[in-house]
Amino acid sequence: MSKIITHGQWSLACFPLGPFATNAYVLWSTDDQSREAWIVDAPFGPGPIGRFIEAQRLVPSRIILTHAHMDHIAGLPELCRAWPEAIVHIHHAEVSWLGDPELNLSAPFGAPMSIATPRTLSPLFLAPPTQAHGDSLPLHAQTFTIRHTPGHSPGGIAIIAPDLSFALVGDTLFAGSIGRTDFPNSDLATLAASIRRELYPPALPPTTAIYPGHGPATTIARELRDNPFVRA
Ligand SMILES: [Zn+2]
Ligand SMILES: [Zn+2]
Repeated sequence: MSKIITHGQWSLACFPLGPFATNAYVLWSTDDQSREAWIVDAPFGPGPIGRFIEAQRLVPSRIILTHAHMDHIAGLPELCRAWPEAIVHIHHAEVSWLGDPELNLSAPFGAPMSIATPRTLSPLFLAPPTQAHGDSLPLHAQTFTIRHTPGHSPGGIAIIAPDLSFALVGDTLFAGSIGRTDFPNSDLATLAASIRRELYPPALPPTTAIYPGHGPATTIARELRDNPFVRA
């Protein structure tokens, strides 16, 4: 059973799914008569996401992948079959990872997986770090910002709410922890720099709620105070 969290007009449902308890999120505006929704990440066994969307009569317009590790993409074919018109977004650096079991880590974890490029794929080309960067995507006449947060993987992204009240950060920042950097394409210094540049103030205020790719939600204030890996 997922719990629905609200931030003003925005509703967010979290689904921890699969053997890695990967959090998928469904995001929509309660003001929106059209019931447009986004799905963020596609874990193993995405059935509960589909059933929730049907029950709430939501209409997924986009499936946004925070990165292409297997536990965040395994459910993509099933979601694309259910909503073939939904646009699939992923950072361009990890487009090829969908079909590459080494890069998406499914081979090292013992169950090689190759996912066909979705027909509706729209790669995100975010400007390189150190520039003012980011891209934006519209949901219910508001603009969410997409930030490039490499480190856990080269194409990691964060999705930031229009009023900075919350952010979906994938495996970049966790409650009391950070994403793993012992994988072949991970880098700790890059990850720490991403967190400081894109998530910690001044990028986001301390009040911003953080919804990670695994585990419970947190806030920027709490991580500034408690996170032992990336200090304020
Ligand atoms: Zn990951
Ligand atoms: Zn993960």
